[in-house]
Amino acid sequence: MTAVPSVSFEFFPPKGEKGEEALWASIRRLAPLGPAFVSVTYGAGGSTRERTHATVTRIQAETGIPAAAHLTCVAATREEIDAIARAYWEAGIRHIVALRGDPPPNADGTGGLGGRGYVPHPGGYAYAVDLVEGLRRVADFEISVAAFPETHPEAPSADVDLDNLKRKCDAGATRAITQFFFDDDAFLRFRDRAAAAGIRAPIVPGILPITNFAKAVEFGEKCNCAIPAWFAELFDGLDGDPETRQMVAAKVAVDQCRRLVAEGVDHVHFYTLNRSELTVAICRMLGIRPKADAAAAA
Ligand SMILES: Cc1cc2nc3c(=O)[nH]c(=O)nc-3n(C[C@H](O)[C@H](O)[C@H](O)COP(=O)(O)OP(=O)(O)OC[C@H]3O[C@@H](n4cnc5c(N)ncnc54)[C@H](O)[C@@H]3O)c2cc1C
Repeated sequence: MTAVPSVSFEFFPPKGEKGEEALWASIRRLAPLGPAFVSVTYGAGGSTRERTHATVTRIQAETGIPAAAHLTCVAATREEIDAIARAYWEAGIRHIVALRGDPPPNADGTGGLGGRGYVPHPGGYAYAVDLVEGLRRVADFEISVAAFPETHPEAPSADVDLDNLKRKCDAGATRAITQFFFDDDAFLRFRDRAAAAGIRAPIVPGILPITNFAKAVEFGEKCNCAIPAWFAELFDGLDGDPETRQMVAAKVAVDQCRRLVAEGVDHVHFYTLNRSELTVAICRMLGIRPKADAAAAA
């Protein structure tokens, strides 16, 4: 029998009433699947500081699911970041996804996703490893960090990038969540290299169910995520055919997750983009059923 992985779901803090409704509709569908945790992102340059806090604390209070707050180093002093972390601890949030973050996009094309042109704040934490160390001083948080199976776009080499991940884990991170990827072999090679480098923290694959292929390609290019030719071909011509695209997207994500589970992965993190349909379908096909259904079937 195929193993059933545990899962986690990532959301972003919504803007406006409609966004809020869409997020909560998704949470109501995804929460019964019993994720190990959910996480809420932190907008570029700290732009969602209040909204991230409000969303994380509300999800944890209303669903009882452990919720993690993403936190970045960008555009803030150490004292400011420490104060945000303390406020999370006081609000009962025990898990932080500690990131360097990317600079807000500039008019000349620098900055933004992928982080080219990042300059540390003079009084701030410079890199994610510094933030992990700072968080350890604030409270006994569970800390997750980012990992890049296809190498972070700014890293001078894959080895330097892996060494950076090792330093983040040695500083106290207990889990690495990867950037999304479509080349499973790249993930598996990365996991082997991490193990050989002495990284004991689990490397959790980040899976992006495709709701908008063009956007995924654009995002992927900035984050060093290769789009295999077979994958692009599958989605070719489906821009105006959302129903077929949705079925294709579910199939490729399920195949990807099944392969990873067969290779020993026991936890999968979904980038939900605040949508539930695909993630619910993928989870069902991986054997994850709403807890109420499972109880009724027992
Ligand atoms: C799971 C996940 C969640 C994310 N959530 C968010 C979010 O909520 N908000 C957001 O803004 N972004 C988010 N990001 C994006 C992330 O902030 C960017 O990818 C960023 O460019 C790198 O962040 P990091 O934490 O990996 O940085 P780091 O680990 O600090 O590494 C960044 C780069 O700097 C290099 N480096 C490390 N130390 C040094 C040094 N001392 N000198 C020179 N170079 C160094 C590394 O090799 C790497 O190339 C997320 C990414 C992932 C994978």
